Amino acid sequence: MHTNSEKQVRLRFAPSPTGPLHIGGVRTALYNYLYARQHGGKFILRIEDTDRSRYVEGAEKYIKDALQWCGLQFDEGPDLGGDLGPYRQSEREAVYGKYVEQLVSSGYAYYAFDTPEELDRMRQEEMDAGNQVARYDSRTRARMKNSLTLAADEVERRLASSEPYTVRLHLPEEGEISFRDEIRGEVTFATRDLDDKIILKGDGWPTYHVANVIDDYSMQISHVIRGEEWLSSTPHHIFMYEGLGWADHIPTFAHLPLLLKPTGKGKLSKRDGQKFGFPVFPLAWSGRARAEENFPGFDSYGFLPEAVINFLALLGWNPGDEQEIFSMLELQEKFALEQVSKSGARFDFEKARWFNQQHLQGLSGEDFQKVARPFIEAAGYQIPEDTFPQMAALLQPRIHTLEELPEAAKAFFLAPTDFDQKTLRKKWKEEIKPHFGQLVTDLIEVENFSAEVLKGKLSQYLEEHDLSFGQILPLLRIALTGVSGGPDLFAMMEILGRDEVTTRFAGAADLFDQVGTPS
Ligand code: GLU
Repeated sequence: MHTNSEKQVRLRFAPSPTGPLHIGGVRTALYNYLYARQHGGKFILRIEDTDRSRYVEGAEKYIKDALQWCGLQFDEGPDLGGDLGPYRQSEREAVYGKYVEQLVSSGYAYYAFDTPEELDRMRQEEMDAGNQVARYDSRTRARMKNSLTLAADEVERRLASSEPYTVRLHLPEEGEISFRDEIRGEVTFATRDLDDKIILKGDGWPTYHVANVIDDYSMQISHVIRGEEWLSSTPHHIFMYEGLGWADHIPTFAHLPLLLKPTGKGKLSKRDGQKFGFPVFPLAWSGRARAEENFPGFDSYGFLPEAVINFLALLGWNPGDEQEIFSMLELQEKFALEQVSKSGARFDFEKARWFNQQHLQGLSGEDFQKVARPFIEAAGYQIPEDTFPQMAALLQPRIHTLEELPEAAKAFFLAPTDFDQKTLRKKWKEEIKPHFGQLVTDLIEVENFSAEVLKGKLSQYLEEHDLSFGQILPLLRIALTGVSGGPDLFAMMEILGRDEVTTRFAGAADLFDQVGTPS
């Protein structure tokens, strides 16, 4: 019989607001987003804030701002609403209790009354006995204080008292839990290797594990794409789906490879940003209370969000051909979970800079001016409105990040104070000096002070005196900007204007003389 029950594609990004969103989290959000868009599905934001001890003020706002900056628009979420909300777990407290009880009554979970001291003692005993992992599990629970070991009336008495208790999963001693991971294939865990994870804490809040499963079910999530660190929790989650009678609703799982340090060794951490001098967060974050908790972001480094997205998309995903530059729409078309690698992806900041350069170059003149403006103004330079479009066009191909703009644009705003001595020693020759003087005079006296006329004038002079560009051009550049490289000299002169050029040329010969004699 034909049923019309094709499951709707619904993916969620489920961050915990414990601080700024790490760039790895942005990649997770991106892959979820791409998959949802690609399949005409929904992309949902769910804030997992049941761990009140790790809650950080401002983190939820940061997460939303960061997703917005990256262009990852969600369809349902806190503040935005949707039919299956609320989307903030702290507002769903009433939902969880009955399911936790259901797990206990069906034997999938049990109450545990152990004090912190008793737990410590158990771990110590395990370690003393030479067990590498000391944990609450199918082996150790038999000697602990829980509803499996205590008499029923004792359990009742304890539950009725004000004594805190937890609820733990009751993993079978024997058996296996298997599932298919879209990236790793079939994954199997022996239940004896799994711990009896806490699902309800002493403070009455559900833990991530149970709230995550209940909400994925309640919000009809079809696919769970998340970081590799959750792979080992997935059997526990599947166990709960079974315990709650939701075995037919287990989502499709895909666990993404870790982001590795630039050295390729170990997981990329938030401290690596400071260590290696690059951002590991999308937006700058101010930790307020503690200065060491302030982090720069890709935004403050002068990255375009589309470049960050492009870079992140390829950290773990291999499109299978040579294409490297992708727009969000192209990513939506081409991204495929099957092409995500199992092994960790090395974070290469130079590569990120290259992507940004490519995307900067792809901007229209007007768009470039828009993104460049704040970076130039932040350096204290006053932008000349009439010549800014030309100036921006000269700078656009010359930078990798917008943060480089103040330095790249410096010569447009400030007369040089240092001169490239090495080049001067080579080029400031006795026989060139009179030509330099004459040329400077000729140039500042041209009738129409435009790049084209200035260039024509110089070419004509060089030809008449049998000189090469290489003998003179570096000297003119140094006189104007202090260095021998930079954007087109004549275009710069036109932008600076006759007065400024005259002033800068004015004492140049004297200053050059002081620098050194030619070899
Ligand atoms: N709240 C979890 C996190 O912060 C979500 C993991 C998941 O997607 O299941 O990473």
